[in-house]
Amino acid sequence: MDKSCTRCGKCCLHMRRYMVIERSIGEAQHYCLFSLTKERFRARIGEDYLTAFRDKDSMNQYPEACPFLRQDQESFYCTIYSSRPEHCKKFICS
Ligand code: SF4
Ligand code: SF4
Repeated sequence: MDKSCTRCGKCCLHMRRYMVIERSIGEAQHYCLFSLTKERFRARIGEDYLTAFRDKDSMNQYPEACPFLRQDQESFYCTIYSSRPEHCKKFICS
């Protein structure tokens, strides 16, 4: 998400098929494969986001969404923002 991001979530709402959580250590650390680019990375849930991350039911209406995406009213946010994969870091919204 870039600086002009409105947090609409569109770039993340269909990413579940690419985001594979291969191994988890507790709730906060997840070894992942982002299969679109074949990047392996360690996702870390920030303390501020742990409660939201636990609430998986809140995303039931978006079954194709990235497993790290959560919604706050009408806005979406990434619970692993600082450790998201390179594809997400480089993404520029058009
Ligand atoms: S970067 Fe993603 S969440 Fe932000 S405005 Fe663009 S599509 Fe929406
Ligand atoms: S890691 Fe974050 S920015 Fe990337 S698709 Fe998932 S929710 Fe979106």
